[in-house]
Amino acid sequence: KGDAAIDMGTSPVMSGLPPATIPGPRMNATFVTLARNSDVWEIARSIRQVEDRFNRKFNYDWVFLNDAEFDDTFKKVTSALTSGNTKYGKIPKEHWSFPEWIDTDKAAKVREDMKEKKIIYGDSISYRHMCRYESGFFFRHPLMLDYEWYWRVEPSVELFCDIDYDAFKFMADNGKKYSFVLSLYEYVETIPTLWDSVKGFIKANPQHIAKDNSMKFLSDDGGNTYNHCHFWSNFEIGNLNWLRSQPYIDFFNHLDKDGGFFYERWGDAPVHSIAAGLMLPKEEIHFFNDIAYYHVPFTHCPTGEQYRLDHKCHCNPKDNFDWQGYSCTARYYELNGMQKPEGYDHEA
Ligand code: GDP
Ligand code: MN
Repeated sequence: KGDAAIDMGTSPVMSGLPPATIPGPRMNATFVTLARNSDVWEIARSIRQVEDRFNRKFNYDWVFLNDAEFDDTFKKVTSALTSGNTKYGKIPKEHWSFPEWIDTDKAAKVREDMKEKKIIYGDSISYRHMCRYESGFFFRHPLMLDYEWYWRVEPSVELFCDIDYDAFKFMADNGKKYSFVLSLYEYVETIPTLWDSVKGFIKANPQHIAKDNSMKFLSDDGGNTYNHCHFWSNFEIGNLNWLRSQPYIDFFNHLDKDGGFFYERWGDAPVHSIAAGLMLPKEEIHFFNDIAYYHVPFTHCPTGEQYRLDHKCHCNPKDNFDWQGYSCTARYYELNGMQKPEGYDHEA
Protein backbone atom coordinates (compact mmCIF):
# COMPACT_ATOMS: atom_id res chain seq x y z
CA LYS A 1 0.00 0.00 0.00
CA GLY A 2 1.16 3.50 -0.61
CA ASP A 3 3.20 2.65 -3.71
CA ALA A 4 0.21 3.55 -5.81
CA ALA A 5 0.40 7.11 -4.57
CA ILE A 6 4.07 7.39 -5.49
CA ASP A 7 3.39 6.07 -8.99
CA MET A 8 0.35 8.20 -9.57
CA GLY A 9 0.33 9.62 -13.02
CA THR A 10 2.95 7.20 -14.31
CA SER A 11 1.91 4.22 -16.39
CA PRO A 12 3.17 0.82 -15.20
CA VAL A 13 5.30 0.59 -18.31
CA MET A 14 6.96 3.97 -17.72
CA SER A 15 7.52 3.24 -14.06
CA GLY A 16 9.05 -0.13 -14.86
CA LEU A 17 6.43 -2.02 -12.82
CA PRO A 18 5.05 -5.27 -14.22
CA PRO A 19 1.36 -5.23 -15.21
CA ALA A 20 -0.98 -6.24 -12.40
CA THR A 21 -1.80 -9.64 -13.84
CA ILE A 22 -1.25 -13.02 -12.29
CA PRO A 23 1.53 -14.86 -14.14
CA GLY A 24 1.23 -18.40 -15.38
CA PRO A 25 -0.68 -20.35 -17.98
CA ARG A 26 -4.34 -19.70 -18.78
CA MET A 27 -7.21 -22.10 -19.30
CA ASN A 28 -9.00 -22.36 -22.61
CA ALA A 29 -11.87 -20.29 -21.26
CA THR A 30 -14.09 -17.32 -21.96
CA PHE A 31 -16.78 -15.19 -20.46
CA VAL A 32 -20.01 -15.33 -22.42
CA THR A 33 -22.84 -12.84 -22.46
CA LEU A 34 -26.10 -12.96 -24.36
CA ALA A 35 -27.39 -9.42 -24.72
CA ARG A 36 -29.31 -6.88 -26.75
CA ASN A 37 -27.83 -3.57 -27.82
CA SER A 38 -30.15 -1.88 -25.35
CA ASP A 39 -28.46 -3.83 -22.52
CA VAL A 40 -25.17 -2.01 -23.07
CA TRP A 41 -25.11 0.10 -19.88
CA GLU A 42 -26.35 -2.74 -17.71
CA ILE A 43 -23.75 -5.14 -19.08
CA ALA A 44 -21.14 -2.40 -18.70
CA ARG A 45 -21.77 -2.43 -14.95
CA SER A 46 -21.41 -6.21 -14.82
CA ILE A 47 -18.20 -6.19 -16.84
CA ARG A 48 -16.65 -3.50 -14.66
CA GLN A 49 -17.26 -5.60 -11.55
CA VAL A 50 -16.09 -8.87 -13.09
CA GLU A 51 -12.94 -7.16 -14.31
CA ASP A 52 -12.24 -5.41 -10.97
CA ARG A 53 -12.85 -8.48 -8.85
CA PHE A 54 -11.33 -11.14 -11.09
CA ASN A 55 -10.48 -10.70 -14.72
CA ARG A 56 -8.03 -7.80 -14.59
CA LYS A 57 -5.65 -10.36 -13.05
CA PHE A 58 -6.36 -13.06 -15.67
CA ASN A 59 -7.46 -11.29 -18.88
CA TYR A 60 -9.78 -13.97 -20.18
CA ASP A 61 -11.67 -13.40 -23.44
CA TRP A 62 -15.28 -12.30 -23.61
CA VAL A 63 -17.79 -13.53 -26.19
CA PHE A 64 -20.97 -11.52 -26.76
CA LEU A 65 -23.92 -13.11 -28.53
CA ASN A 66 -27.05 -11.47 -29.89
CA ASP A 67 -29.98 -12.41 -32.11
CA ALA A 68 -29.46 -9.05 -33.87
CA GLU A 69 -26.26 -7.39 -35.08
CA PHE A 70 -24.32 -5.63 -32.28
CA ASP A 71 -24.03 -1.90 -32.89
CA ASP A 72 -20.88 0.21 -32.65
CA THR A 73 -21.70 1.66 -29.25
CA PHE A 74 -22.14 -1.78 -27.75
CA LYS A 75 -18.86 -2.96 -29.20
CA LYS A 76 -16.91 0.17 -28.27
CA VAL A 77 -18.12 0.31 -24.67
CA THR A 78 -17.71 -3.38 -23.92
CA SER A 79 -14.31 -3.77 -25.56
CA ALA A 80 -13.02 -0.73 -23.68
CA LEU A 81 -14.05 -2.28 -20.37
CA THR A 82 -12.64 -5.77 -20.87
CA SER A 83 -9.02 -6.78 -20.37
CA GLY A 84 -9.09 -9.80 -22.69
CA ASN A 85 -10.10 -10.12 -26.34
CA THR A 86 -13.72 -9.49 -27.21
CA LYS A 87 -15.71 -11.31 -29.88
CA TYR A 88 -19.16 -10.45 -31.15
CA GLY A 89 -21.43 -13.07 -32.66
CA LYS A 90 -24.78 -13.08 -34.33
CA ILE A 91 -27.04 -15.99 -33.51
CA PRO A 92 -28.14 -17.96 -36.57
CA LYS A 93 -31.86 -17.66 -37.27
CA GLU A 94 -32.43 -21.43 -36.89
CA HIS A 95 -31.35 -21.18 -33.26
CA TRP A 96 -33.73 -18.33 -32.45
CA SER A 97 -37.06 -19.32 -34.00
CA PHE A 98 -39.90 -21.80 -33.67
CA PRO A 99 -38.85 -25.31 -34.70
CA GLU A 100 -41.10 -26.77 -37.38
CA TRP A 101 -42.86 -29.22 -35.02
CA ILE A 102 -44.21 -26.40 -32.85
CA ASP A 103 -47.86 -25.44 -33.34
CA THR A 104 -47.56 -21.65 -33.25
CA ASP A 105 -51.30 -21.13 -32.70
CA LYS A 106 -51.16 -23.32 -29.62
CA ALA A 107 -48.08 -21.40 -28.44
CA ALA A 108 -49.85 -18.07 -28.96
CA LYS A 109 -52.83 -19.25 -26.93
CA VAL A 110 -50.49 -20.22 -24.09
CA ARG A 111 -48.93 -16.75 -24.10
CA GLU A 112 -52.37 -15.17 -23.80
CA ASP A 113 -53.31 -17.42 -20.89
CA MET A 114 -50.04 -16.70 -19.13
CA LYS A 115 -50.50 -12.98 -19.66
CA GLU A 116 -53.85 -13.14 -17.93
CA LYS A 117 -52.36 -15.13 -15.08
CA LYS A 118 -49.61 -12.45 -14.87
CA ILE A 119 -46.85 -15.03 -15.07
CA ILE A 120 -43.52 -13.24 -15.42
CA TYR A 121 -42.41 -13.15 -19.09
CA GLY A 122 -45.46 -15.39 -19.74
CA ASP A 123 -46.49 -13.44 -22.82
CA SER A 124 -43.00 -13.03 -24.25
CA ILE A 125 -41.81 -14.78 -27.40
CA SER A 126 -38.25 -13.44 -27.20
CA TYR A 127 -37.83 -14.62 -23.60
CA ARG A 128 -38.74 -18.12 -24.75
CA HIS A 129 -36.22 -18.01 -27.59
CA MET A 130 -33.66 -16.79 -25.07
CA CYS A 131 -34.34 -19.67 -22.66
CA ARG A 132 -34.20 -22.21 -25.47
CA TYR A 133 -31.00 -20.69 -26.83
CA GLU A 134 -29.29 -20.78 -23.43
CA SER A 135 -30.52 -24.34 -22.94
CA GLY A 136 -29.44 -25.81 -26.22
CA PHE A 137 -27.36 -23.60 -28.46
CA PHE A 138 -24.99 -21.01 -26.98
CA PHE A 139 -22.22 -23.59 -26.49
CA ARG A 140 -22.46 -24.53 -30.18
CA HIS A 141 -22.07 -21.01 -31.52
CA PRO A 142 -19.02 -20.92 -33.83
CA LEU A 143 -17.29 -18.40 -31.53
CA MET A 144 -17.69 -20.76 -28.57
CA LEU A 145 -16.23 -23.80 -30.32
CA ASP A 146 -12.69 -22.58 -29.62
CA TYR A 147 -13.18 -22.83 -25.86
CA GLU A 148 -13.52 -25.54 -23.25
CA TRP A 149 -14.76 -23.46 -20.32
CA TYR A 150 -17.31 -20.65 -19.97
CA TRP A 151 -18.44 -18.20 -17.35
CA ARG A 152 -21.86 -16.70 -18.02
CA VAL A 153 -22.41 -13.05 -17.14
CA GLU A 154 -25.70 -11.18 -17.39
CA PRO A 155 -26.46 -7.47 -17.31
CA SER A 156 -26.75 -5.75 -13.91
CA VAL A 157 -25.07 -8.39 -11.80
CA GLU A 158 -22.62 -7.62 -9.02
CA LEU A 159 -19.55 -9.35 -7.63
CA PHE A 160 -18.88 -8.42 -4.02
CA CYS A 161 -15.54 -10.02 -3.16
CA ASP A 162 -12.11 -10.34 -4.73
CA ILE A 163 -11.53 -13.65 -6.46
CA ASP A 164 -7.80 -14.22 -6.19
CA TYR A 165 -7.48 -17.54 -7.94
CA ASP A 166 -8.34 -18.84 -11.39
CA ALA A 167 -11.88 -20.20 -11.06
CA PHE A 168 -11.62 -21.98 -14.42
CA LYS A 169 -8.44 -23.75 -13.34
CA PHE A 170 -10.13 -24.67 -10.08
CA MET A 171 -12.90 -26.37 -12.06
CA ALA A 172 -10.44 -28.29 -14.20
CA ASP A 173 -8.08 -29.27 -11.37
CA ASN A 174 -10.96 -30.54 -9.25
CA GLY A 175 -12.86 -32.41 -11.95
CA LYS A 176 -15.84 -30.03 -11.90
CA LYS A 177 -18.15 -29.61 -14.90
CA TYR A 178 -20.87 -27.28 -13.62
CA SER A 179 -21.15 -24.76 -10.81
CA PHE A 180 -23.52 -22.37 -9.08
CA VAL A 181 -23.75 -19.68 -6.42
CA LEU A 182 -27.50 -19.45 -5.85
CA SER A 183 -30.20 -22.10 -5.93
CA LEU A 184 -33.95 -21.83 -5.44
CA TYR A 185 -37.38 -23.24 -6.28
CA GLU A 186 -38.70 -22.66 -9.79
CA TYR A 187 -42.01 -20.94 -10.38
CA VAL A 188 -44.15 -24.02 -11.04
CA GLU A 189 -46.51 -22.40 -13.57
CA THR A 190 -43.62 -22.09 -16.00
CA ILE A 191 -42.73 -25.82 -16.01
CA PRO A 192 -45.82 -27.96 -15.25
CA THR A 193 -44.81 -30.81 -17.58
CA LEU A 194 -41.02 -30.44 -17.56
CA TRP A 195 -40.53 -33.35 -15.21
CA ASP A 196 -42.76 -35.61 -17.34
CA SER A 197 -40.47 -34.85 -20.24
CA VAL A 198 -37.42 -35.57 -18.07
CA LYS A 199 -38.92 -38.90 -17.02
CA GLY A 200 -39.49 -39.77 -20.67
CA PHE A 201 -35.83 -38.99 -21.32
CA ILE A 202 -34.63 -41.13 -18.41
CA LYS A 203 -36.72 -44.04 -19.60
CA ALA A 204 -35.46 -43.78 -23.15
CA ASN A 205 -31.81 -43.14 -22.20
CA PRO A 206 -30.96 -44.89 -18.95
CA GLN A 207 -27.33 -45.09 -20.11
CA HIS A 208 -27.04 -41.29 -19.80
CA ILE A 209 -27.93 -41.18 -16.11
CA ALA A 210 -24.94 -40.95 -13.76
CA LYS A 211 -24.76 -43.54 -11.02
CA ASP A 212 -23.88 -41.17 -8.22
CA ASN A 213 -26.19 -38.35 -9.34
CA SER A 214 -27.96 -35.51 -7.52
CA MET A 215 -31.51 -36.83 -7.85
CA LYS A 216 -31.98 -36.05 -4.16
CA PHE A 217 -31.46 -32.37 -4.95
CA LEU A 218 -34.22 -32.46 -7.57
CA SER A 219 -36.76 -34.84 -6.13
CA ASP A 220 -38.04 -35.78 -2.68
CA ASP A 221 -39.56 -39.06 -3.80
CA GLY A 222 -36.80 -40.79 -5.71
CA GLY A 223 -37.62 -39.16 -9.03
CA ASN A 224 -41.39 -39.49 -9.19
CA THR A 225 -41.98 -35.74 -8.86
CA TYR A 226 -39.81 -32.64 -9.22
CA ASN A 227 -39.34 -30.49 -6.12
CA HIS A 228 -38.53 -27.48 -8.40
CA CYS A 229 -35.02 -26.96 -7.02
CA HIS A 230 -32.56 -25.59 -9.52
CA PHE A 231 -29.26 -23.76 -9.76
CA TRP A 232 -29.71 -20.18 -10.88
CA SER A 233 -28.17 -20.08 -14.34
CA ASN A 234 -27.61 -16.34 -14.72
CA PHE A 235 -24.28 -17.23 -13.05
CA GLU A 236 -22.56 -20.33 -14.34
CA ILE A 237 -19.01 -21.51 -14.72
CA GLY A 238 -19.05 -24.73 -16.64
CA ASN A 239 -17.50 -27.09 -19.13
CA LEU A 240 -18.55 -26.55 -22.74
CA ASN A 241 -17.50 -30.02 -23.82
CA TRP A 242 -20.01 -31.46 -21.40
CA LEU A 243 -22.79 -29.35 -22.93
CA ARG A 244 -21.62 -30.41 -26.38
CA SER A 245 -21.53 -34.11 -25.39
CA GLN A 246 -24.05 -36.61 -26.76
CA PRO A 247 -25.84 -37.13 -23.42
CA TYR A 248 -26.52 -33.42 -23.03
CA ILE A 249 -27.52 -32.96 -26.68
CA ASP A 250 -29.86 -35.96 -26.45
CA PHE A 251 -31.36 -34.45 -23.31
CA PHE A 252 -31.92 -31.07 -24.91
CA ASN A 253 -33.37 -32.58 -28.09
CA HIS A 254 -35.77 -34.72 -26.09
CA LEU A 255 -37.06 -31.71 -24.14
CA ASP A 256 -37.16 -29.53 -27.24
CA LYS A 257 -39.33 -32.09 -29.09
CA ASP A 258 -41.82 -32.07 -26.23
CA GLY A 259 -42.33 -28.37 -26.89
CA GLY A 260 -42.34 -26.92 -23.39
CA PHE A 261 -40.05 -24.04 -24.31
CA PHE A 262 -43.06 -22.70 -26.23
CA TYR A 263 -46.15 -24.46 -24.84
CA GLU A 264 -45.02 -23.57 -21.33
CA ARG A 265 -42.11 -21.32 -20.46
CA TRP A 266 -39.30 -23.65 -19.52
CA GLY A 267 -36.26 -21.78 -18.26
CA ASP A 268 -32.67 -22.67 -19.02
CA ALA A 269 -31.99 -22.78 -15.27
CA PRO A 270 -34.09 -25.87 -14.52
CA VAL A 271 -32.97 -27.43 -17.81
CA HIS A 272 -29.25 -27.05 -17.05
CA SER A 273 -29.79 -28.01 -13.42
CA ILE A 274 -31.70 -31.18 -14.15
CA ALA A 275 -29.15 -32.16 -16.77
CA ALA A 276 -26.26 -31.59 -14.34
CA GLY A 277 -28.15 -33.21 -11.49
CA LEU A 278 -28.90 -36.40 -13.39
CA MET A 279 -26.10 -36.80 -15.90
CA LEU A 280 -23.08 -35.69 -13.87
CA PRO A 281 -21.76 -37.53 -10.83
CA LYS A 282 -22.54 -35.26 -7.90
CA GLU A 283 -18.85 -34.52 -7.26
CA GLU A 284 -18.72 -32.72 -10.62
CA ILE A 285 -21.07 -29.95 -9.49
CA HIS A 286 -19.47 -27.17 -7.46
CA PHE A 287 -20.90 -24.55 -5.14
CA PHE A 288 -18.73 -21.42 -5.25
CA ASN A 289 -19.27 -20.14 -1.71
CA ASP A 290 -16.42 -17.70 -2.31
CA ILE A 291 -17.95 -15.98 -5.35
CA ALA A 292 -20.16 -13.27 -3.86
CA TYR A 293 -22.89 -12.40 -6.31
CA TYR A 294 -26.08 -10.48 -6.88
CA HIS A 295 -28.71 -10.77 -9.60
CA VAL A 296 -32.01 -9.15 -8.83
CA PRO A 297 -33.53 -10.05 -6.38
CA PHE A 298 -31.10 -12.47 -4.67
CA THR A 299 -27.68 -12.14 -3.06
CA HIS A 300 -25.08 -14.73 -2.33
CA CYS A 301 -22.82 -13.20 0.33
CA PRO A 302 -20.27 -15.75 1.56
CA THR A 303 -20.84 -17.10 5.02
CA GLY A 304 -17.75 -16.51 7.17
CA GLU A 305 -16.65 -13.09 8.40
CA GLN A 306 -12.90 -13.67 8.07
CA TYR A 307 -13.29 -14.65 4.43
CA ARG A 308 -15.31 -11.51 3.70
CA LEU A 309 -12.73 -9.27 5.35
CA ASP A 310 -9.79 -10.95 3.67
CA HIS A 311 -11.41 -10.61 0.24
CA LYS A 312 -12.62 -7.02 0.60
CA CYS A 313 -16.27 -8.04 0.28
CA HIS A 314 -18.85 -5.27 0.18
CA CYS A 315 -22.03 -7.33 0.56
CA ASN A 316 -24.17 -7.26 3.68
CA PRO A 317 -24.20 -10.78 5.16
CA LYS A 318 -27.80 -10.18 6.21
CA ASP A 319 -28.74 -10.22 2.53
CA ASN A 320 -27.35 -13.72 2.04
CA PHE A 321 -30.03 -15.97 0.56
CA ASP A 322 -28.32 -19.35 1.02
CA TRP A 323 -29.84 -20.44 4.31
CA GLN A 324 -33.27 -18.93 3.80
CA GLY A 325 -36.31 -21.11 3.26
CA TYR A 326 -36.69 -20.47 -0.45
CA SER A 327 -33.09 -21.47 -1.21
CA CYS A 328 -32.19 -25.06 -2.12
CA THR A 329 -28.55 -24.71 -1.09
CA ALA A 330 -28.98 -26.37 2.32
CA ARG A 331 -30.42 -29.35 0.46
CA TYR A 332 -27.33 -29.40 -1.77
CA TYR A 333 -25.11 -29.42 1.33
CA GLU A 334 -27.03 -32.31 2.87
CA LEU A 335 -27.01 -34.37 -0.31
CA ASN A 336 -23.24 -33.98 -0.57
CA GLY A 337 -22.60 -34.61 3.11
CA MET A 338 -21.10 -31.12 3.47
CA GLN A 339 -20.80 -29.24 6.76
CA LYS A 340 -22.57 -25.90 6.61
CA PRO A 341 -20.01 -23.11 6.98
CA GLU A 342 -19.29 -21.60 10.37
CA GLY A 343 -21.75 -18.78 11.02
CA TYR A 344 -24.57 -20.01 8.76
CA ASP A 345 -27.05 -19.98 11.65
CA HIS A 346 -26.24 -16.61 13.18
CA GLU A 347 -24.87 -14.30 10.50
CA ALA A 348 -28.18 -13.66 8.77
P1 GDP B 1 -34.06 -12.65 -16.27
O1 GDP B 1 -32.69 -12.63 -15.61
O2 GDP B 1 -34.66 -14.02 -16.27
O3 GDP B 1 -34.97 -11.61 -15.74
O4 GDP B 1 -33.86 -12.32 -17.83
P2 GDP B 1 -32.90 -11.26 -18.54
O5 GDP B 1 -33.74 -10.15 -19.09
O6 GDP B 1 -31.75 -10.89 -17.67
O7 GDP B 1 -32.38 -12.11 -19.78
C1 GDP B 1 -31.44 -13.14 -19.61
C2 GDP B 1 -30.24 -12.93 -20.53
O8 GDP B 1 -30.65 -12.99 -21.88
C3 GDP B 1 -29.60 -11.57 -20.35
O9 GDP B 1 -28.20 -11.74 -20.58
C4 GDP B 1 -30.23 -10.73 -21.45
O10 GDP B 1 -29.38 -9.70 -21.85
C5 GDP B 1 -30.45 -11.76 -22.53
N1 GDP B 1 -31.64 -11.54 -23.35
C6 GDP B 1 -32.94 -11.60 -22.96
N2 GDP B 1 -33.78 -11.40 -23.99
C7 GDP B 1 -32.99 -11.21 -25.09
C8 GDP B 1 -33.26 -10.95 -26.48
O11 GDP B 1 -34.40 -10.88 -26.92
N3 GDP B 1 -32.18 -10.82 -27.31
C9 GDP B 1 -30.89 -10.92 -26.83
N4 GDP B 1 -29.91 -10.76 -27.70
N5 GDP B 1 -30.61 -11.16 -25.55
C10 GDP B 1 -31.63 -11.31 -24.69
MN1 MN C 1 -31.05 -11.45 -15.80
